[in-house]
Amino acid sequence: MSWFTRKKPPDEKLPKIENGERRVRTEGLWQKCESCRQIIWKKELEANFGVCPRCGAHSRIDAVTRLKLLLDGGEFQQFDAALRSSDPLGFVGKEPYRDRLNAVRQTTSLSDALISAAGALDGRPIQICAMDFRFIGGSMGSVVGEKIARAIERAIERHTPLVIVSTSGGARMQEGAISLMQMAKIAAALMRLDEARLPYISVLTDPTTGGVTASYAMLGDLNIAEPGALIGFAGARVIEQTIRQKLPEGFQRAEFLLDHGMLDAVVPRLELKPYISKALKFFVA
Ligand SMILES: [Zn+2]
Repeated sequence: MSWFTRKKPPDEKLPKIENGERRVRTEGLWQKCESCRQIIWKKELEANFGVCPRCGAHSRIDAVTRLKLLLDGGEFQQFDAALRSSDPLGFVGKEPYRDRLNAVRQTTSLSDALISAAGALDGRPIQICAMDFRFIGGSMGSVVGEKIARAIERAIERHTPLVIVSTSGGARMQEGAISLMQMAKIAAALMRLDEARLPYISVLTDPTTGGVTASYAMLGDLNIAEPGALIGFAGARVIEQTIRQKLPEGFQRAEFLLDHGMLDAVVPRLELKPYISKALKFFVA
């Protein structure tokens, strides 16, 4: 079986809604797929965990949806949900970082850009972290770093595998060097997990960039990505300007990285759970 096949968009189109009145009433129920431009019923898209039922394109999903997708019965026990950034630099950008945090906490109902949880995957207890791109671009600051480090410690304590699902714009600028230090902290904790001979599976989703790619997202015993995910360190434009060369087609996409040996597999979202289950069976026996 191939994990990399992508369904071609079917030719049939949905009937156009001509009636202006009907258009108003149905607003918000339908969504245009960014990939195939077809109109999809939002509920259908949600039921399909954000995978377009027409063309198979993967749209971004939040951390809670991700945990529901991967864990048995969609059930999980959350940890460290009260951890908050102390705004160590007293950072003020367009607005104070503190205000930005408060606003995003309100709109997302999250304390930071990652949910750390325990649950069962096909009956096997695991520790799992899922990032959420809606929270300041899924950026990695002190809270994300600390939550992951604690999840790794719990995995060692409870002797369970670890899964981290990344989606991130990279380190959180507003916490400066403290964000960057998380990379080393998590990498050191992952080494202890390795010494305890426990597997870590990294799932890279669209987009995974910057300091997250440069640390834990690429440190899995298996590094697997979703189809079409943008994965890289610096952005394509910055690289083009630096090396003064045009970059090849598909650069920094999951399939390109797989072809160049940077990933172990590209796995469609709806096949992720059985894939990880199989991998863990292989690792843990
Ligand atoms: Zn589509």
